[in-house]
Amino acid sequence: MLRTPSSESDAVPIVEIALPVPVDSLFSYAVPAPLALAALPGCRALVPFGPRRLAGLIVSRDESGGARSHEGALRSIERVLDPAPVVSVGMIRLLREAAHDVYCPVGLALACATPSGSAPRAAAGFAITNFGQEASLRGAAAPQARPLLAWLARAPRTQREVERRFPKERTLIRDLLRDGLLERQAVETGSGARAPVQRMARVADGADIAAALAGPLGRAKKQVALLARLAADGAQPVAALGGASESLRQLARRGLVILFEQAAEAASRQNESLADGEATAPEPTPEQEAALAAITEAIRARRGDQFLLHGVTGSGKTEVYLRAIAETLALGRQALVLVPEITLTHQLVARLAARFGTRVALLHSQLRPGERIAEWRSLLGGKTRIAVGARSALFAPLDDLGLIVMDEEHEPAYKNEEGFRYHARDLAARRAAESGCPLVLGSATPALETRYAAERGELRRLSLPHRIGGRPLPAVEVIDLGVERALLPRGRRLVLSRVLHAAVAEALADGGQVILFLNRRGFSTRIFCFDCGHAERCQHCEISLVYHAGDHRLRCHYCQYEIAPPETCSKCGAPDTALLGLGTERLEEDVRRRFPTARIARLDRDTAAKRGETERVLAALAAGTVDILVGTQMVAKGHHFPGVRVVGVVAADQSLHFPDFRAAERTFQLLTQVAGRAGRGAAPGRVVIQTFVPDHYAIRPVRQHDYEAFYRAELAQRAAVGYPPFGRLVHVLVSGSEEAETLAVAERLAQRARSAVGAEDEAPSLAFSVLGPGPSPIARLRDRFRFQLLLKGSDEKRVLDAGRALAEVAHGRESAGVRIQVDANPVNML
Ligand code: ADP
Ligand code: ZN
Repeated sequence: MLRTPSSESDAVPIVEIALPVPVDSLFSYAVPAPLALAALPGCRALVPFGPRRLAGLIVSRDESGGARSHEGALRSIERVLDPAPVVSVGMIRLLREAAHDVYCPVGLALACATPSGSAPRAAAGFAITNFGQEASLRGAAAPQARPLLAWLARAPRTQREVERRFPKERTLIRDLLRDGLLERQAVETGSGARAPVQRMARVADGADIAAALAGPLGRAKKQVALLARLAADGAQPVAALGGASESLRQLARRGLVILFEQAAEAASRQNESLADGEATAPEPTPEQEAALAAITEAIRARRGDQFLLHGVTGSGKTEVYLRAIAETLALGRQALVLVPEITLTHQLVARLAARFGTRVALLHSQLRPGERIAEWRSLLGGKTRIAVGARSALFAPLDDLGLIVMDEEHEPAYKNEEGFRYHARDLAARRAAESGCPLVLGSATPALETRYAAERGELRRLSLPHRIGGRPLPAVEVIDLGVERALLPRGRRLVLSRVLHAAVAEALADGGQVILFLNRRGFSTRIFCFDCGHAERCQHCEISLVYHAGDHRLRCHYCQYEIAPPETCSKCGAPDTALLGLGTERLEEDVRRRFPTARIARLDRDTAAKRGETERVLAALAAGTVDILVGTQMVAKGHHFPGVRVVGVVAADQSLHFPDFRAAERTFQLLTQVAGRAGRGAAPGRVVIQTFVPDHYAIRPVRQHDYEAFYRAELAQRAAVGYPPFGRLVHVLVSGSEEAETLAVAERLAQRARSAVGAEDEAPSLAFSVLGPGPSPIARLRDRFRFQLLLKGSDEKRVLDAGRALAEVAHGRESAGVRIQVDANPVNML
């Protein structure tokens, strides 16, 4: 119950506030009487923090804080920024728990619950006090103070505004503050990224229109007309009322009309333009039926069950999602669909919009801030029933969530790698439990951990082993590059093997389409001497440089370093042509030479940087106006292109040599996904994989699309060395500009990790060990040296406790020269 602060002089509510600062604690503030009703958990508030003012989230509130407020140390909140809570209590609890699990300062995690820029911003400023008003009205203020007081009487102003207008009045202001005519106040400066808003007008609740018309309004024709229109049509944008603002203001002053602002409806461009006309749902297959029955049951029962929908590419997983969503909407609840990357959202959003004829909220990082805020607000109001987005969509304010779908659940993009280092899969499971709704994880190549959890019964596996319509999975051929290379003259680069070249030519002759895939992260994208193996590296980052044909430069992909390509190998002197490795640009060039009449497009991170370009290229492929698409892993995923006949993997094993315990898993997943792009239409597909290691356990099973064979082999590998899922891993990255100092810090951290769990004198074991410090795979980045530690072992508790001890050290030294990052669930260990 709220107590009126005036009735008990010492009963001041205390709120706990999460602030976006790297300190793992909440902060207590007193609630002054005028804000007592507004300061609710879930609202944001502006508070003094040291010399600054910060916007934070009210997490909890304690009514009996009177005694503590008398300790005097407690500062007060200055303003409440939201008229009603914008973050639910459930979301607050979820984020606090998740933050704890991944060693994230609580305020940084809670800051994710609201889009940045959505809170009004404020700056230090001045306002006139009641006493000042009176003095000013009575003419009692000193003459030189009058202009300033009169100006501030109209509205509080920021310090900067005051100083600009009254540059010489510092002493005056100090005196007015001292005498109580002015006070310091935080002044709203507008939010930097505002959602597009429109001014609206509506009839005030309980306005007595008849009485007004009979009485004072009688002769004001314009006002009468406006009032009649608003009464008949409901709320209207002011702009639509035709320049009647003065009349509206008068109506507002009379208390008959309310003027307010409302988020302009975010343009749902993609929703409309992409609908691909499959508004009618196909009859589900028996396999789909079985999967749906299980999911539907959980939706109806409001159970937070987890399902793994394990279906080969083209087996109709998306159709299962759509039907489960339909079920959710029919119950009047909301659905959240997560996708790893936004390039994958467009087809899905189009299918959703076509099927349900409803607006779909899109939440991803490429939205402009204003657009993101508009989508967020539309969800807050409960107007939008389906949200689709990348991992951050998990924070969307969906108060009546009935289903969470996570498509391509194995994708590394689901891990957030900065600040709040959560994995979307973990957070989705929490959110499902919190909301009482099922979570459906979909994949053709589930993450090893997910498949293993299904094996242990922690989630239920629903399997779709066949493609729709009895379509065969494409035939996969593996070409041994070692054998092919031996046939070529020395120095000649091998791009397409004879088999792949012939397959492409044949597909083109038949009017089919081709995707050629090159893993961007392999050595082949860098400058690499085919004679001595030397690679040109960045002076600052210790990673290989990448050749850009566009302007003929070598560039570091981490910092801005660039040079002209050397004429010859700087190590062995081999000539230029041998030096240039194979990147997507180079591949495109080569393919253009081989197939001069084909229409060729390229998709990689460079082309994707252009807004709309990815969508354009994919649309062209879907429309059949592109014959060959050359690209990085961006082309590998989720898309459905019936015209694609041949998929070629130009260099399959590059990703195998990546310094990461998941390298084999990534390789298998990527190849299987890529292979799945072929033969989705009527004609059978063909996949050609080029590799130096055709018998590797991550490559061989791709031939038979044999996930289980790979899974067994990889599981055995992991068990032997105690990698997840058979143990925990915590990754610690230490970076600094002084090499010796950085290494010393890393060594102390290794000691600290051992002592934190009493393992100083223990030999490293499968149960618990600290590996390193050693140089990170990227040993230097932007002139900082990087060392890493791995805490590893089957004794989960000890590993995590040791990690927590290091995270505490890390939080304490955010600003110091040596930075420490501790990741409790590492996915990308660079
Ligand atoms: P996945 O998501 O597993 O790759 P999709 O759901 O995209 O598979 O299905 C592949 C294709 O098969 C799509 O064109 C889809 O419309 C179609 N499809 C899915 N289920 C059925 C069904 N039960 N009957 C007929 N066509 C279907
Ligand atoms: Zn660099």
